[in-house]
Amino acid sequence: MKRRDFLAASAVAGVATVCGARRAAADQAGGGNGMPKLTPPEKPAELNLCLQWGAIPGGEIKEKLDFLEANGFTAVEIPSGDWPIKNCDALIEAMKGRKLFLATACGPSDFSYAEPEKREAEVQKFLPVLEALGKMKSVGLIICPARGKLSEPGRLSAKELRKDFVENTGKRLAEHAHKHGTSIVLEPLRRNETPFLRQVADGARIAADIGPGATVMGDFWHMGLEETSFMGAFICGGKLLTHVHIAGLKERIIPGVHRDADNYVDGFKGLKLIGYRGAVSFEGGWPKNPEDPKKGLPQEERIRLIRNMVTLLREQWAMA
Ligand code: MG
Repeated sequence: MKRRDFLAASAVAGVATVCGARRAAADQAGGGNGMPKLTPPEKPAELNLCLQWGAIPGGEIKEKLDFLEANGFTAVEIPSGDWPIKNCDALIEAMKGRKLFLATACGPSDFSYAEPEKREAEVQKFLPVLEALGKMKSVGLIICPARGKLSEPGRLSAKELRKDFVENTGKRLAEHAHKHGTSIVLEPLRRNETPFLRQVADGARIAADIGPGATVMGDFWHMGLEETSFMGAFICGGKLLTHVHIAGLKERIIPGVHRDADNYVDGFKGLKLIGYRGAVSFEGGWPKNPEDPKKGLPQEERIRLIRNMVTLLREQWAMA
């Protein structure tokens, strides 16, 4: 059996398994045999591949969006900071008539300062960004509530931060986002990056506690260390899951370079079970240039790797 035939056969078997499992789970009103009851999604899930702005070949906005459309992407992720404010009108104009949606804006944030003035400055910084994202019909603004060690002087404790984020900083940002038709998207990170928010289930709980305008995302790279199951984590995100980051699972570079390690089928099954229709966006680096590690990869090689990733992720989505 050729590789393509094998994958096609696996895809049919995979969908049958998912649909069968979904139906069986739904049929068990109340979970008769002790298994959890899953409600089948109203609309089937969709794979919307996406690139972050810096990874898209091309210089001008139009050139980058043209590349995405020509290479099978259906979503775009932009930088955060003042980028959305500066480029709001130009991006709205460039997106007209395209089969692309604006996923998220991604950049640093920190709400763990002990000094209320510093936390307030962070809130004030993001309010106009959320307005611009709302105007651009973006899914939302990615927020990592805290980085580094909360045990350091000048930081809130994890308990204090959770309360303040849910009742004050995160709450106000989410309300503002909701008012402008967008959201804040909480991103769980690895334990070496934050002690505060590491799992999708916890992010979903924080988002639910905040209320309208707060959602959660999953990043395969962080999840690889922090979750026991990609599928289980995405199911925990449920309807609150609005964005996904993806990278190689062995090395944080474009998927497909370490092909044996880069298996996302279990995670994609979870996304299918919750009817996920948001973006799956590559966030990561590139392999070293074998000719000269200091130089970075030539553009043609990056494009080849991007196309290779698209093929790999589509195959695995079909298998899930
Ligand atoms: Mg990420």
